[in-house]
Amino acid sequence: MANPATTAPPLAVKWRKLAEARCAATGERLTPARLAAYAELLASDKPVSAYELIALLEDRQQRKIAPLTVYRHLDFLIRVGLVHRLESTQSYMPCDRPDHQHESQYLLCSSCGRAVEVASKPLDSLLRKIANQNEFRPQNTVVEIRGLCERCAASESD
Ligand SMILES: [Zn+2]
Ligand SMILES: [Zn+2]
Repeated sequence: MANPATTAPPLAVKWRKLAEARCAATGERLTPARLAAYAELLASDKPVSAYELIALLEDRQQRKIAPLTVYRHLDFLIRVGLVHRLESTQSYMPCDRPDHQHESQYLLCSSCGRAVEVASKPLDSLLRKIANQNEFRPQNTVVEIRGLCERCAASESD
């Protein structure tokens, strides 16, 4: 039987290379367990909560995993910029372009739960400008927009 800690969904070379590069840049260690958590998030077609991630990992590795361990993996993935945390749904999704720093905006479908990351520089600078005009110092300019994705909007109007 394969080592349970390395039992993970297949990870495309592109993502593995990005993970290695982010770790090299931040001096973090990429362990098989961290990589397995990342692979699980990449394999999901929508953002998952910490508890959903625990269930996915336990199911795949056929063993109990302490929640704290998974929270640590998530902290790590966020720290190195591979994963984003969605505040409004308390869920996690892999970043589209982890190779550079950015503020993100998200389109979240309230029906199917899918999320799309859109990093809009003009929107980001507009938000900063508005904050500036109000003499407000923003710490982040993350925007989460809820609504219906194309597919769900189409099936609703059927
Ligand atoms: Zn991102
Ligand atoms: Zn949808």
